[in-house]
Amino acid sequence: MDSDTVTREMLKQLVEKAKSEGANRIKRIVIEIGEMSGLNSGQIRNSFDVLSRDTLAEGAELAISEIPLQVRCMKCSAEYNASGMSMICPECGSIASELVKGNELRVKEIEVA
Ligand SMILES: [Zn+2]
Repeated sequence: MDSDTVTREMLKQLVEKAKSEGANRIKRIVIEIGEMSGLNSGQIRNSFDVLSRDTLAEGAELAISEIPLQVRCMKCSAEYNASGMSMICPECGSIASELVKGNELRVKEIEVA
């Protein structure tokens, strides 16, 4: 998925939601993107600037937080951050793990006017 596709889809949903609430415009959007989503905040911002023109979201403040990759050890159930290449459990040294979070893009908050 590229950032334009993701941002376009997100905007569509946000604009529909804002309209259904009778809003005139969207003031602020808070989103979270996971480290493993393959996207970064710079790309999202660029896409947003272009794609939000002439929509309710034009000029909205965009707050983006990046969520580090978090995994759970399949052996001892410890949860740990697996940023970069460190996929080794700090508790037991196992490399068998499953993803807990870090591959999502989600809208956390939206403020309308
Ligand atoms: Zn472990």
